[in-house]
Amino acid sequence: MRVSVFGLGYVGCVSAACLASMGHEVIGVDVNQVKVDLVNDGKAPVVEERIGELIAEVVRTGALRATGDVREAVLGSDISLICVGTPSEPNGSLCTTYLERVTEQIGAVLAERGKDGECGEDGEGGGRQTVVFRSTMLPGTALNLLVPILEKAVGGTAGVDFGVAVNPEFLREGTSVRDFFDPPKTVIGELDRASGDAVAALYDSLPGEVFRVSVPTAEAIKYADNAFHGLKVGFANELGAVYQALGVDSHQVMDVFLADRKLNISPAYLRPGFAFGGSCLPKDLRSLVHAAQRADVSVPILANVLPSNSAHLQRAVELVERTGKRRVGLFGLSFKPGTDDLRESPLVELAERLFGKGYDLRIHDANVSLSRLLGANREYIETRLPHLAQLLADSVEEVLQHAEVCLVGTRDPAVLAALPHGDGPVIVDLIRLPDAETRRTEPGYMGLAW
Ligand code: NAD
Repeated sequence: MRVSVFGLGYVGCVSAACLASMGHEVIGVDVNQVKVDLVNDGKAPVVEERIGELIAEVVRTGALRATGDVREAVLGSDISLICVGTPSEPNGSLCTTYLERVTEQIGAVLAERGKDGECGEDGEGGGRQTVVFRSTMLPGTALNLLVPILEKAVGGTAGVDFGVAVNPEFLREGTSVRDFFDPPKTVIGELDRASGDAVAALYDSLPGEVFRVSVPTAEAIKYADNAFHGLKVGFANELGAVYQALGVDSHQVMDVFLADRKLNISPAYLRPGFAFGGSCLPKDLRSLVHAAQRADVSVPILANVLPSNSAHLQRAVELVERTGKRRVGLFGLSFKPGTDDLRESPLVELAERLFGKGYDLRIHDANVSLSRLLGANREYIETRLPHLAQLLADSVEEVLQHAEVCLVGTRDPAVLAALPHGDGPVIVDLIRLPDAETRRTEPGYMGLAW
Protein backbone atom coordinates (compact mmCIF):
# COMPACT_ATOMS: atom_id res chain seq x y z
CA MET A 1 0.00 0.00 0.00
CA ARG A 2 1.03 3.63 -0.39
CA VAL A 3 1.12 5.16 3.06
CA SER A 4 1.72 8.68 4.37
CA VAL A 5 2.70 9.06 8.01
CA PHE A 6 2.19 12.44 9.66
CA GLY A 7 4.56 13.13 12.56
CA LEU A 8 8.00 11.53 12.64
CA GLY A 9 8.33 11.29 16.40
CA TYR A 10 8.59 8.06 18.38
CA VAL A 11 5.34 6.56 17.05
CA GLY A 12 5.50 8.00 13.53
CA CYS A 13 9.09 7.17 12.66
CA VAL A 14 8.80 3.64 14.05
CA SER A 15 5.49 3.08 12.21
CA ALA A 16 6.90 4.54 8.98
CA ALA A 17 10.11 2.50 9.06
CA CYS A 18 8.42 -0.76 10.06
CA LEU A 19 5.64 -0.40 7.45
CA ALA A 20 8.27 0.36 4.80
CA SER A 21 10.20 -2.76 5.78
CA MET A 22 6.97 -4.79 5.38
CA GLY A 23 6.80 -3.80 1.70
CA HIS A 24 4.62 -0.69 1.84
CA GLU A 25 5.62 2.50 0.02
CA VAL A 26 5.88 5.11 2.77
CA ILE A 27 6.21 8.91 2.86
CA GLY A 28 6.86 10.45 6.27
CA VAL A 29 5.80 14.05 6.94
CA ASP A 30 6.94 16.36 9.69
CA VAL A 31 6.89 20.10 10.32
CA ASN A 32 10.32 19.72 11.91
CA GLN A 33 12.86 19.99 9.08
CA VAL A 34 15.62 18.43 11.23
CA LYS A 35 13.58 15.21 11.47
CA VAL A 36 12.77 15.23 7.74
CA ASP A 37 16.47 15.67 6.87
CA LEU A 38 17.58 12.99 9.32
CA VAL A 39 15.19 10.45 7.79
CA ASN A 40 16.17 11.34 4.22
CA ASP A 41 19.81 10.89 5.26
CA GLY A 42 18.90 7.39 6.45
CA LYS A 43 19.17 8.34 10.12
CA ALA A 44 16.62 7.93 12.89
CA PRO A 45 15.17 11.07 14.51
CA VAL A 46 14.89 9.17 17.81
CA VAL A 47 17.20 6.83 19.72
CA GLU A 48 15.56 3.41 19.99
CA GLU A 49 16.73 -0.17 19.68
CA ARG A 50 17.05 -1.23 15.96
CA ILE A 51 15.44 1.93 14.56
CA GLY A 52 18.73 3.35 13.19
CA GLU A 53 19.51 0.22 11.13
CA LEU A 54 15.90 -0.09 9.96
CA ILE A 55 15.65 3.50 8.71
CA ALA A 56 19.04 3.27 6.98
CA GLU A 57 17.84 0.14 5.17
CA VAL A 58 14.36 1.32 4.05
CA VAL A 59 15.63 4.73 2.95
CA ARG A 60 18.40 3.03 0.95
CA THR A 61 15.89 0.78 -0.84
CA GLY A 62 13.58 3.73 -1.52
CA ALA A 63 10.69 2.28 0.54
CA LEU A 64 10.73 5.30 2.88
CA ARG A 65 11.29 8.98 2.25
CA ALA A 66 10.35 12.10 4.19
CA THR A 67 8.98 15.49 3.25
CA GLY A 68 7.49 18.62 4.76
CA ASP A 69 4.97 18.82 1.93
CA VAL A 70 1.50 17.64 2.98
CA ARG A 71 0.11 17.80 -0.55
CA GLU A 72 2.83 15.57 -2.00
CA ALA A 73 2.31 13.06 0.81
CA VAL A 74 -1.48 12.89 0.60
CA LEU A 75 -1.59 12.72 -3.19
CA GLY A 76 1.11 10.05 -3.17
CA SER A 77 -0.70 7.75 -0.75
CA ASP A 78 -3.95 5.83 -0.27
CA ILE A 79 -3.90 5.86 3.49
CA SER A 80 -2.68 8.58 5.88
CA LEU A 81 -1.62 7.73 9.43
CA ILE A 82 -1.70 10.62 11.86
CA CYS A 83 0.90 10.26 14.62
CA VAL A 84 1.26 13.84 15.91
CA GLY A 85 1.63 14.59 19.61
CA THR A 86 -1.31 15.05 22.00
CA PRO A 87 0.34 16.55 25.09
CA SER A 88 -1.39 17.85 28.23
CA GLU A 89 -2.73 21.37 28.42
CA PRO A 90 -1.71 23.20 31.63
CA ASN A 91 -5.06 22.25 33.23
CA GLY A 92 -4.47 18.56 32.46
CA SER A 93 -6.86 18.38 29.52
CA LEU A 94 -5.85 16.85 26.20
CA CYS A 95 -4.21 19.23 23.73
CA THR A 96 -5.70 18.58 20.30
CA THR A 97 -4.06 21.52 18.53
CA TYR A 98 -1.62 19.42 16.46
CA LEU A 99 -4.33 16.93 15.58
CA GLU A 100 -6.68 19.68 14.42
CA ARG A 101 -3.98 21.37 12.36
CA VAL A 102 -2.85 18.24 10.54
CA THR A 103 -6.47 17.19 9.95
CA GLU A 104 -7.23 20.57 8.35
CA GLN A 105 -4.12 20.26 6.17
CA ILE A 106 -5.04 16.76 4.99
CA GLY A 107 -8.66 17.83 4.46
CA ALA A 108 -7.57 20.72 2.24
CA VAL A 109 -5.60 18.36 -0.01
CA LEU A 110 -8.46 15.86 -0.14
CA ALA A 111 -10.79 18.68 -1.21
CA GLU A 112 -8.40 19.62 -4.00
CA ARG A 113 -8.10 16.02 -5.07
CA GLY A 114 -11.90 15.73 -5.12
CA LYS A 115 -12.11 18.66 -7.55
CA ASP A 116 -9.70 16.91 -9.92
CA GLY A 117 -12.01 13.92 -10.00
CA GLU A 118 -10.94 10.69 -8.35
CA CYS A 119 -7.23 11.05 -9.02
CA GLY A 120 -4.34 13.19 -7.90
CA GLU A 121 -2.56 15.35 -10.44
CA ASP A 122 -0.05 12.64 -11.26
CA GLY A 123 -2.84 10.30 -12.19
CA GLU A 124 -2.20 8.32 -9.01
CA GLY A 125 -4.23 8.28 -5.85
CA GLY A 126 -7.41 6.97 -7.38
CA GLY A 127 -9.95 5.55 -4.97
CA ARG A 128 -10.91 6.66 -1.53
CA GLN A 129 -8.30 8.02 0.92
CA THR A 130 -8.47 6.65 4.44
CA VAL A 131 -7.44 8.96 7.27
CA VAL A 132 -6.26 7.01 10.31
CA PHE A 133 -5.66 8.55 13.74
CA ARG A 134 -2.91 6.76 15.64
CA SER A 135 -2.36 9.51 18.21
CA THR A 136 -3.82 8.88 21.65
CA MET A 137 -7.04 10.86 22.05
CA LEU A 138 -10.02 10.79 24.36
CA PRO A 139 -13.19 8.97 23.29
CA GLY A 140 -15.24 11.29 21.13
CA THR A 141 -12.30 13.28 19.74
CA ALA A 142 -12.43 11.70 16.29
CA LEU A 143 -16.20 11.80 15.79
CA ASN A 144 -16.94 15.11 17.52
CA LEU A 145 -13.89 17.16 16.57
CA LEU A 146 -11.77 15.71 13.76
CA VAL A 147 -14.33 14.16 11.43
CA PRO A 148 -16.29 17.46 11.25
CA ILE A 149 -13.01 19.25 10.36
CA LEU A 150 -12.41 16.78 7.52
CA GLU A 151 -16.01 16.90 6.27
CA LYS A 152 -16.01 20.68 6.26
CA ALA A 153 -12.70 20.89 4.40
CA VAL A 154 -13.58 18.20 1.88
CA GLY A 155 -17.24 19.16 1.48
CA GLY A 156 -18.12 15.48 1.68
CA THR A 157 -19.14 12.73 4.09
CA ALA A 158 -16.77 10.60 6.16
CA GLY A 159 -17.30 6.92 5.51
CA VAL A 160 -18.56 7.73 2.01
CA ASP A 161 -16.21 10.18 0.27
CA PHE A 162 -13.19 9.26 2.41
CA GLY A 163 -12.50 6.69 5.09
CA VAL A 164 -11.80 7.34 8.79
CA ALA A 165 -10.39 5.00 11.40
CA VAL A 166 -8.70 5.13 14.78
CA ASN A 167 -5.78 2.76 15.25
CA PRO A 168 -4.10 3.36 18.62
CA GLU A 169 -0.45 2.45 19.05
CA PHE A 170 0.64 0.17 21.91
CA LEU A 171 4.42 0.28 21.45
CA ARG A 172 6.65 0.89 24.45
CA GLU A 173 9.60 3.19 23.97
CA GLY A 174 12.87 1.31 24.28
CA THR A 175 11.43 -1.79 22.54
CA SER A 176 9.25 -0.03 19.99
CA VAL A 177 10.45 -1.82 16.84
CA ARG A 178 10.10 -5.20 18.51
CA ASP A 179 6.64 -4.21 19.76
CA PHE A 180 5.58 -3.05 16.30
CA PHE A 181 6.36 -6.44 14.75
CA ASP A 182 4.93 -8.37 17.69
CA PRO A 183 2.06 -6.21 18.92
CA PRO A 184 0.12 -7.17 22.05
CA LYS A 185 -3.03 -6.54 19.99
CA THR A 186 -4.17 -4.54 16.99
CA VAL A 187 -7.15 -2.30 17.61
CA ILE A 188 -9.06 -0.83 14.69
CA GLY A 189 -11.85 1.63 15.39
CA GLU A 190 -13.74 1.83 12.11
CA LEU A 191 -16.26 4.36 10.93
CA ASP A 192 -17.32 1.94 8.20
CA ARG A 193 -16.21 -1.52 7.07
CA ALA A 194 -14.06 -0.28 4.17
CA SER A 195 -12.08 2.05 6.46
CA GLY A 196 -11.35 -0.85 8.82
CA ASP A 197 -10.39 -3.10 5.90
CA ALA A 198 -7.84 -0.52 4.70
CA VAL A 199 -6.16 -0.45 8.13
CA ALA A 200 -6.31 -4.23 8.52
CA ALA A 201 -4.59 -4.64 5.13
CA LEU A 202 -1.65 -2.59 6.41
CA TYR A 203 -0.87 -5.08 9.16
CA ASP A 204 -2.04 -8.36 7.64
CA SER A 205 1.36 -10.02 8.02
CA LEU A 206 1.68 -9.17 11.74
CA PRO A 207 0.87 -11.62 14.54
CA GLY A 208 -1.62 -11.05 17.35
CA GLU A 209 -5.34 -10.65 17.61
CA VAL A 210 -7.10 -7.87 15.68
CA PHE A 211 -10.05 -6.19 17.38
CA ARG A 212 -12.42 -4.27 15.11
CA VAL A 213 -14.52 -1.94 17.21
CA SER A 214 -16.27 1.41 17.02
CA VAL A 215 -14.18 4.60 16.78
CA PRO A 216 -14.81 5.78 20.41
CA THR A 217 -14.15 2.27 21.76
CA ALA A 218 -10.75 2.21 20.07
CA GLU A 219 -9.93 5.61 21.57
CA ALA A 220 -11.03 4.40 25.02
CA ILE A 221 -9.02 1.13 24.92
CA LYS A 222 -5.75 3.05 24.77
CA TYR A 223 -6.63 4.94 27.98
CA ALA A 224 -7.58 1.70 29.74
CA ASP A 225 -4.10 0.39 28.91
CA ASN A 226 -2.17 3.43 30.04
CA ALA A 227 -4.22 4.06 33.17
CA PHE A 228 -3.73 0.42 34.22
CA HIS A 229 0.02 0.56 33.58
CA GLY A 230 0.34 3.66 35.79
CA LEU A 231 -1.82 2.03 38.44
CA LYS A 232 0.33 -1.11 38.42
CA VAL A 233 3.57 0.84 38.83
CA GLY A 234 2.08 2.88 41.68
CA PHE A 235 0.74 -0.28 43.36
CA ALA A 236 4.10 -2.06 43.13
CA ASN A 237 6.09 0.95 44.32
CA GLU A 238 3.80 1.60 47.27
CA LEU A 239 4.02 -2.05 48.30
CA GLY A 240 7.81 -1.85 47.84
CA ALA A 241 8.01 1.19 50.13
CA VAL A 242 5.85 -0.34 52.87
CA TYR A 243 7.65 -3.67 52.77
CA GLN A 244 11.04 -2.01 52.85
CA ALA A 245 9.96 -0.16 56.00
CA LEU A 246 8.80 -3.50 57.45
CA GLY A 247 12.07 -5.22 56.51
CA VAL A 248 10.55 -7.45 53.81
CA ASP A 249 11.99 -7.98 50.32
CA SER A 250 9.17 -6.78 48.05
CA HIS A 251 10.64 -8.43 44.95
CA GLN A 252 10.45 -11.81 46.60
CA VAL A 253 6.87 -11.04 47.57
CA MET A 254 6.01 -10.07 43.99
CA ASP A 255 7.72 -13.19 42.58
CA VAL A 256 5.36 -15.37 44.59
CA PHE A 257 2.35 -13.10 44.05
CA LEU A 258 2.86 -13.21 40.27
CA ALA A 259 3.46 -16.95 40.21
CA ASP A 260 -0.17 -17.55 41.23
CA ARG A 261 -1.53 -19.18 38.08
CA LYS A 262 -5.13 -18.62 39.05
CA LEU A 263 -4.61 -14.86 39.35
CA ASN A 264 -2.92 -14.90 35.93
CA ILE A 265 -1.51 -11.38 36.25
CA SER A 266 1.08 -10.10 33.80
CA PRO A 267 4.30 -9.16 35.64
CA ALA A 268 4.69 -6.10 33.41
CA TYR A 269 4.94 -2.90 35.49
CA LEU A 270 4.63 -4.86 38.77
CA ARG A 271 8.25 -4.92 39.97
CA PRO A 272 8.98 -2.26 42.56
CA GLY A 273 11.44 0.20 41.03
CA PHE A 274 11.55 3.87 40.19
CA ALA A 275 8.68 6.23 39.40
CA PHE A 276 7.08 6.13 35.95
CA GLY A 277 7.05 9.00 33.47
CA GLY A 278 7.37 9.65 29.77
CA SER A 279 5.22 11.32 27.20
CA CYS A 280 2.24 8.96 27.62
CA LEU A 281 1.29 7.61 31.04
CA PRO A 282 1.26 10.90 32.99
CA LYS A 283 -0.51 12.95 30.34
CA ASP A 284 -3.00 10.21 29.53
CA LEU A 285 -3.87 9.80 33.21
CA ARG A 286 -4.23 13.57 33.53
CA SER A 287 -6.53 13.91 30.55
CA LEU A 288 -8.65 10.91 31.60
CA VAL A 289 -9.07 12.33 35.10
CA HIS A 290 -9.81 15.77 33.65
CA ALA A 291 -12.46 14.26 31.35
CA ALA A 292 -14.00 12.41 34.32
CA GLN A 293 -14.15 15.61 36.36
CA ARG A 294 -15.77 17.49 33.49
CA ALA A 295 -18.35 14.72 33.24
CA ASP A 296 -18.86 14.98 37.03
CA VAL A 297 -17.67 11.42 37.64
CA SER A 298 -15.66 10.83 40.82
CA VAL A 299 -12.50 8.75 40.13
CA PRO A 300 -10.45 8.73 43.37
CA ILE A 301 -8.26 5.78 42.35
CA LEU A 302 -7.30 7.23 38.95
CA ALA A 303 -6.91 10.71 40.43
CA ASN A 304 -4.32 9.47 42.94
CA VAL A 305 -2.02 7.51 40.64
CA LEU A 306 0.09 10.57 39.77
CA PRO A 307 0.31 11.83 43.39
CA SER A 308 1.43 8.31 44.40
CA ASN A 309 4.12 8.45 41.70
CA SER A 310 5.30 11.82 42.91
CA ALA A 311 5.52 10.55 46.51
CA HIS A 312 7.73 7.70 45.30
CA LEU A 313 10.04 10.14 43.57
CA GLN A 314 10.31 12.09 46.81
CA ARG A 315 11.51 8.92 48.56
CA ALA A 316 14.54 8.95 46.25
CA VAL A 317 15.29 12.56 47.22
CA GLU A 318 15.07 11.56 50.88
CA LEU A 319 17.57 8.71 50.37
CA VAL A 320 20.08 11.23 49.01
CA GLU A 321 19.41 13.59 51.92
CA ARG A 322 20.05 10.73 54.36
CA THR A 323 23.59 10.26 53.00
CA GLY A 324 24.51 13.80 54.15
CA LYS A 325 26.71 14.19 51.06
CA ARG A 326 26.52 16.98 48.49
CA ARG A 327 28.35 15.82 45.35
CA VAL A 328 25.87 13.67 43.45
CA GLY A 329 26.18 11.69 40.23
CA LEU A 330 23.06 10.60 38.35
CA PHE A 331 23.20 7.76 35.84
CA GLY A 332 20.23 7.87 33.49
CA LEU A 333 18.10 10.86 32.53
CA SER A 334 15.65 9.67 29.88
CA PHE A 335 12.30 8.47 31.19
CA LYS A 336 13.36 4.84 30.96
CA PRO A 337 16.30 2.78 29.71
CA GLY A 338 16.73 2.26 25.97
CA THR A 339 15.39 5.60 24.77
CA ASP A 340 16.52 9.23 24.59
CA ASP A 341 13.03 10.56 25.39
CA LEU A 342 13.21 13.14 28.17
CA ARG A 343 9.55 14.19 28.24
CA GLU A 344 8.15 13.99 31.77
CA SER A 345 11.10 11.82 32.76
CA PRO A 346 11.04 11.06 36.50
CA LEU A 347 14.85 11.23 36.43
CA VAL A 348 14.65 14.78 35.07
CA GLU A 349 12.24 15.60 37.88
CA LEU A 350 14.59 13.99 40.42
CA ALA A 351 17.56 15.94 39.00
CA GLU A 352 15.55 19.15 39.23
CA ARG A 353 14.54 18.52 42.84
CA LEU A 354 18.18 17.85 43.80
CA PHE A 355 19.45 20.80 41.74
CA GLY A 356 16.85 22.99 43.44
CA LYS A 357 18.16 21.87 46.83
CA GLY A 358 21.66 22.95 45.84
CA TYR A 359 23.27 19.54 45.32
CA ASP A 360 26.38 19.58 43.16
CA LEU A 361 25.15 17.33 40.36
CA ARG A 362 26.66 15.60 37.32
CA ILE A 363 24.52 13.50 34.98
CA HIS A 364 25.35 10.83 32.44
CA ASP A 365 22.98 9.22 29.95
CA ALA A 366 24.56 7.77 26.81
CA ASN A 367 21.32 7.82 24.77
CA VAL A 368 20.66 11.45 25.65
CA SER A 369 24.25 12.41 24.74
CA LEU A 370 24.00 10.57 21.43
CA SER A 371 20.67 12.14 20.57
CA ARG A 372 22.02 15.58 21.49
CA LEU A 373 25.01 15.00 19.21
CA LEU A 374 22.75 13.91 16.31
CA GLY A 375 20.59 16.97 16.89
CA ALA A 376 17.34 15.08 17.50
CA ASN A 377 16.71 16.26 21.07
CA ARG A 378 19.20 19.16 21.14
CA GLU A 379 16.50 21.79 20.95
CA TYR A 380 14.47 20.10 23.70
CA ILE A 381 17.51 19.98 26.00
CA GLU A 382 18.60 23.52 25.29
CA THR A 383 15.20 25.16 25.53
CA ARG A 384 13.46 23.05 28.21
CA LEU A 385 16.39 21.84 30.30
CA PRO A 386 19.19 24.44 30.02
CA HIS A 387 19.81 24.12 33.78
CA LEU A 388 20.50 20.38 33.37
CA ALA A 389 22.28 20.63 30.00
CA GLN A 390 25.29 22.18 31.73
CA LEU A 391 25.46 19.19 34.13
CA LEU A 392 25.55 16.51 31.41
CA ALA A 393 28.77 14.53 31.19
CA ASP A 394 29.53 12.39 28.16
CA SER A 395 31.58 9.85 30.10
CA VAL A 396 30.74 7.55 33.01
CA GLU A 397 34.17 8.19 34.54
CA GLU A 398 33.62 11.95 34.77
CA VAL A 399 30.56 11.36 36.92
CA LEU A 400 32.25 8.71 39.05
CA GLN A 401 35.20 11.02 39.74
CA HIS A 402 32.84 13.78 40.83
CA ALA A 403 30.35 11.86 42.93
CA GLU A 404 30.17 11.05 46.64
CA VAL A 405 26.73 9.58 45.96
CA CYS A 406 25.75 7.82 42.73
CA LEU A 407 22.09 7.50 41.84
CA VAL A 408 21.58 4.69 39.36
CA GLY A 409 18.46 4.87 37.18
CA THR A 410 19.71 3.04 34.09
CA ARG A 411 20.69 -0.47 33.05
CA ASP A 412 23.27 0.79 30.54
CA PRO A 413 25.90 -2.01 30.57
CA ALA A 414 28.74 0.57 30.46
CA VAL A 415 27.45 2.13 33.69
CA LEU A 416 26.82 -1.18 35.43
CA ALA A 417 30.34 -2.40 34.59
CA ALA A 418 31.95 0.78 35.93
CA LEU A 419 30.02 1.07 39.21
CA PRO A 420 32.43 0.50 42.09
CA HIS A 421 31.80 -1.83 45.02
CA GLY A 422 32.60 -1.20 48.66
CA ASP A 423 34.57 1.91 49.56
CA GLY A 424 33.65 4.15 46.62
CA PRO A 425 30.68 6.51 46.45
CA VAL A 426 27.40 5.60 48.11
CA ILE A 427 25.27 3.78 45.56
CA VAL A 428 21.60 4.76 45.60
CA ASP A 429 19.96 2.05 43.52
CA LEU A 430 16.70 3.34 42.01
CA ILE A 431 15.92 0.33 39.83
CA ARG A 432 17.13 -2.74 41.71
CA LEU A 433 20.42 -3.39 39.96
CA PRO A 434 21.10 -6.90 38.59
CA ASP A 435 23.73 -7.42 41.33
CA ALA A 436 21.62 -5.80 44.04
CA GLU A 437 21.61 -8.99 46.16
CA THR A 438 25.40 -8.80 46.50
CA ARG A 439 25.56 -5.04 46.83
CA ARG A 440 22.99 -5.08 49.58
CA THR A 441 25.53 -6.67 51.92
CA GLU A 442 28.15 -4.01 51.10
CA PRO A 443 28.59 -0.73 52.99
CA GLY A 444 27.37 2.35 51.14
CA TYR A 445 24.47 0.72 49.28
CA MET A 446 20.93 2.09 49.49
CA GLY A 447 18.07 0.64 47.48
CA LEU A 448 14.77 2.33 46.66
CA ALA A 449 13.21 -0.87 45.38
CA TRP A 450 13.49 -3.43 48.19
P1 NAD B 1 6.35 13.06 19.24
O1 NAD B 1 6.18 14.37 19.90
O2 NAD B 1 7.60 12.28 19.43
O3 NAD B 1 6.13 13.24 17.69
C1 NAD B 1 5.13 14.01 17.13
C2 NAD B 1 5.66 14.59 15.84
O4 NAD B 1 4.59 15.22 15.14
C3 NAD B 1 6.74 15.65 16.04
O5 NAD B 1 7.90 15.28 15.33
C4 NAD B 1 6.10 16.92 15.45
O6 NAD B 1 7.04 17.78 14.85
C5 NAD B 1 5.14 16.32 14.45
N1 NAD B 1 4.06 17.20 14.01
C6 NAD B 1 3.34 18.09 14.73
N2 NAD B 1 2.44 18.70 13.93
C7 NAD B 1 2.58 18.19 12.69
C8 NAD B 1 1.95 18.41 11.44
N3 NAD B 1 0.96 19.31 11.29
N4 NAD B 1 2.37 17.71 10.37
C9 NAD B 1 3.36 16.81 10.48
N5 NAD B 1 4.02 16.55 11.64
C10 NAD B 1 3.62 17.23 12.74
O7 NAD B 1 5.09 12.18 19.71
P2 NAD B 1 5.02 10.60 19.92
O8 NAD B 1 5.67 10.23 21.19
O9 NAD B 1 5.42 9.92 18.67
O10 NAD B 1 3.45 10.42 20.16
C11 NAD B 1 2.53 10.66 19.13
C12 NAD B 1 1.18 10.21 19.59
O11 NAD B 1 1.17 8.81 19.85
C13 NAD B 1 0.70 10.86 20.88
O12 NAD B 1 -0.69 11.02 20.83
C14 NAD B 1 1.06 9.84 21.93
O13 NAD B 1 0.24 9.93 23.08
C15 NAD B 1 0.81 8.54 21.20
N6 NAD B 1 1.61 7.40 21.65
C16 NAD B 1 2.90 7.57 21.99
C17 NAD B 1 3.65 6.46 22.39
C18 NAD B 1 5.09 6.62 22.81
O14 NAD B 1 5.62 5.67 23.38
N7 NAD B 1 5.75 7.72 22.53
C19 NAD B 1 3.07 5.20 22.44
C20 NAD B 1 1.75 5.07 22.05
C21 NAD B 1 1.03 6.18 21.65
